[in-house]
Amino acid sequence: MADHLLIDGSFGEGGGQIIRSSLALSLITGRPITIENIRARRSPPGLRRQHLTAVLAAAEVGRAAVEGAEVGASRLTFEPGEVRPGEYDFRIGTAGSTTLVLQTVLPALLQLGGPSVVRLEGGTHNPFAPPFEFLQRTYLPLVSRLGPSIRAELHRHGFYPAGGGRFTVYVQPASEFGRLDLLERGRLQDRRIRGLIANLPRHIAERECHTIAERSGWGEKCCSIEEVEADGPGNAVLIEMEHEHVTEVVVGFGQKGVRAETVASRAWREARTYLDAGVPVGEHLADQLLLPLGLAAWRGEGGGSYLTGPLTEHARTHIEVLKTFLDVPIRVEDRGAQSAVHVGREA
Ligand code: ATP
Repeated sequence: MADHLLIDGSFGEGGGQIIRSSLALSLITGRPITIENIRARRSPPGLRRQHLTAVLAAAEVGRAAVEGAEVGASRLTFEPGEVRPGEYDFRIGTAGSTTLVLQTVLPALLQLGGPSVVRLEGGTHNPFAPPFEFLQRTYLPLVSRLGPSIRAELHRHGFYPAGGGRFTVYVQPASEFGRLDLLERGRLQDRRIRGLIANLPRHIAERECHTIAERSGWGEKCCSIEEVEADGPGNAVLIEMEHEHVTEVVVGFGQKGVRAETVASRAWREARTYLDAGVPVGEHLADQLLLPLGLAAWRGEGGGSYLTGPLTEHARTHIEVLKTFLDVPIRVEDRGAQSAVHVGREA
């Protein structure tokens, strides 16, 4: 059996990403792991239900032996067996983000000998996690450019806290991994402001869209209001910016006691920061691209590079996790307001 790796969950950012990335990399490399000091820098520390769902999903995909998979645990041992392609159903309930669970199991499925279908049920639009549209329009098309072919279909929205959303992901693995170099965005091809609303008055989404249409100067023609079915009340406003080489999706979530105009203004501020920065890769994508690029580099000639804003502590921690598992060069060039990240052999 491959050497056991000890991961210190308290290093760097010390949060949940260390757990999810370590699980994904354990599945990819077949290396058993023990994670100690889980989420030591969070309050409360330890495994929370949302991380536990990722552990259990990873265990199912990798036929893994797991010790310590309990809410509150500060230590977890995960010994993967054979990762097999196939059909997987993960019901995450109300406990967390389906998109983060998918990102835990997906990388390992990209390097197998056959296709997989992953069906997920739970939250599809949760705060502090990628909304479904980010997965579908931002993340998966870029991972697909490395060689695999991945498609996601949303069947039902699941807003926090009720959950109950459903989507399916179709995974065709890569026979060979290539490069992804994202150094510019290219021309702006389309921009949309989408107000999603479930079991709440339609005017909330209308006001959000109107606020963003006005602030951005894009006009009402960019707006659409989508009344969707969901288990509980839910509202999100999405700002989708489609450039030639990358689509960025910014989200604002409606919150009880917060005016629709405030939710919209915050989302627009984030979108404007992205547009003004002039880089192709936004803050969230910057940390999420690291793992697929690392996998592509580790498997051979693949890898890539991207230009983003100042690298977050989150992304820097993620780089350290990758280096623990994969013998691939990762170089970060800090250029003040911008950073260039190179993974694998440089082009
Ligand atoms: P903890 O509670 O320990 O901080 P966590 O697992 O809930 O952990 P993070 O470790 O912060 O959360 O990871 C959240 C992930 O979700 C990150 O990869 C981040 O980039 C992504 N994410 C958060 N918000 C968005 C968003 N609006 N759009 C896209 N991705 C997002």
